[in-house]
Order: sequence, then structure tokens, then C-alpha cells
Amino acid sequence: MELNGVYLDELRDFFVKNGEKAFRANQLFTFFHKNGRWDVDNSNLSKKALEIIKVQKISKTEILKVLESKVDETKKFLFELDDANIVEGVLMKYNYGYSQCISTQVGCRMGCKFCASTKAGLLRNLSPGEMLGQVYAAENYYKIKVKNFILMGSGEPMDNFENVIKFLKILHDERGHNTSYRNITISTCGVVSEIYKLSELDMPINLAISLHETNDLDRSAIMPINNRYNLDDLSKALDYYISKTNNRITFEYTLIKGKNDSEKNVRELKNRFSHLLCHINLIPLNPIDEYDEKRPSREDINKFKKLLEEASFNVTIRRELGPDIDGSCGQLRAKLLRGDLNGCCRSN
Ligand code: SF4
Repeated sequence: MELNGVYLDELRDFFVKNGEKAFRANQLFTFFHKNGRWDVDNSNLSKKALEIIKVQKISKTEILKVLESKVDETKKFLFELDDANIVEGVLMKYNYGYSQCISTQVGCRMGCKFCASTKAGLLRNLSPGEMLGQVYAAENYYKIKVKNFILMGSGEPMDNFENVIKFLKILHDERGHNTSYRNITISTCGVVSEIYKLSELDMPINLAISLHETNDLDRSAIMPINNRYNLDDLSKALDYYISKTNNRITFEYTLIKGKNDSEKNVRELKNRFSHLLCHINLIPLNPIDEYDEKRPSREDINKFKKLLEEASFNVTIRRELGPDIDGSCGQLRAKLLRGDLNGCCRSN
């Protein structure tokens, strides 16, 4: 049992079964999820309770490296897990508070052509405790409280559905971190079966879809998930999600020069999605070594945005965060593994 990745009820059952008082579970849950700690020897647990938990697992997610932007207040982390695997995280400061990007898997098996996280495939899923550990490690390092979370680090959250839901429910627990579901966004490449499952959970989480192309032929060429669930399937699942949650969907749309930035793309988006309660977030491509494409010029980006607005979409262009410390998801880890990561403010 991963003690810092289970519900309070499960902890209570565990202590009672082992001949301890149920209130020990409350003490431990508070220590893990309100105080953001895992060094249980420094908790107020009794000697007997400590003996009982000693043989169980407590995941430690430690900060291996931090890069701090000099341009804005963005920080990028490399977290080291118990088995020496490494995942990335990003902390961003907005006027409404801190927002953290969380990784849900080591690597990813979704195979999106523009993404560095998937180049070596999926190594393994993260446990709830390891996802919570990213939150607490960042908060403790900067002595802050993070209010908003987006599951958009390495991994496809819907491909690790059970652990992700457990992570979010524990994060939401008012006896712990007490995060509102409204402040959480799951970003998915479009795992339709799990969008339906999420719709039924009564967790009004925001949903972001990595869209990036506007017809099946082109989307399948850069995102293999589209061969499994095409845009019709996706559109129906989103209709259903909105009908159940009344939440607006965000489409993440990476702009790639000459590939998906034409008037035809705007027309296709309009035909398919203009009926949806949605918002389009344009992301100028952040080139990676493994993907030989460029972003459009600033002028072309603005033109594309204007065309979408004329088609009645609500559109934003994502502000480039921490442009001096690294690019898109997966690059930091890839650089570390290649041995060419410099300039970190912390390096063990
Ligand atoms: S973009 Fe997301 S889903 Fe696609 S390969 Fe990268 S981590 Fe996986």
C-alpha cells in the first residue's frame, strides 16, 4: 500500500486492521496532504503507529533540478522518483495565483509526432502519491500554495485513469490540500473512452483537448490516437462531457508553419466545432530536435487568430512562459538523459 497515495478511509481501515486507533489515520493524512510532508519520523505519530507503517510504501518525489526563468517567474523542475525515474513539472505565476503542470506517466505511448515525451515510449504510470509528491515538493521548495493544476506534463492522463482520478480526489479532499475541481484541468490527446468515464464521475474538472489538426487525415498523420478515435468520435464525446458538466472545453492548437495554419483549417474547425461550448488556445510551435518543423510568423499567427474569431470562436494565443529556460514538454528530461542540461539553479 502506498500510504501517501490512498484515501483517508483506506488509511483508517489500515490502522484499525493493525490494532491502532482510527484517529492515527487523520494524523497521517494531515501530515501528508495538509503539511505536504513524507518524513514520517518527524510527525506526531506514536511509536507503535510508526512501527506499523514502516513496512508500507511511502513515495518520495524529490527535486533533482530547477530552472528559473529570468524573463518571467516560470520555474521548471525535474523530479526524481524512488526508482530513479525522472519526470518534469512547470510552475507558472499568474495574477490569479500559482499554476502547476503535473506529469502523470514516465514517458508516453501516444506517439504524437511533435512531442519529446513519447520518443522512448511509455516507461510506467505514476502512482497517486508520486503525482501528489510533485505538488508538495514544488510548494515546499518555494514556500507557496499552488491553486491551479493542469495535467499536461509528460504522459497521457487518460492512459493512467484510475491513478489520476485518485490523485485528484485526494488533492480535492478538504482535510488535505483542498483544491477545487474547478481549478484543475486534464489535458488529453483524445482518449474518447475515458472522456465518457470522466463525464460520469461528478467531478467538474476542466477538459483540454490537444487538437492540433482539423481533419482526420492530417490529424492521424501527427497523432496516432486519431486512428483509434477520429474527430467524429471525439466531437460526440465532447458534446456528452459538456452536457454532463456544463464546462467549456479548451482546444490546444499548436500552430505549425504551412501545416495547420491556413484558411482551410479555420473552415474545418468551424464546420466541426462551432456548435460546442469551447475556447481555442493557439500555441506557436516550440521546436524540438526530433521534429523538424517551424512556427508561423507573428503576423500569420495573428491572422489565423482573427479568422477564427470571425468564425465566432473564443481564441487566445498562449503566452510563452519561461522562454529562456526550455521549450515544450519532455525536452528538459530528454536533455538531462543526453547529458547536456546546464544552467540549473539546483543540481544534486
Ligand atoms: S503530447 Fe501528450 S499525449 Fe501526445 S505523446 Fe506527448 S505526452 Fe503523450
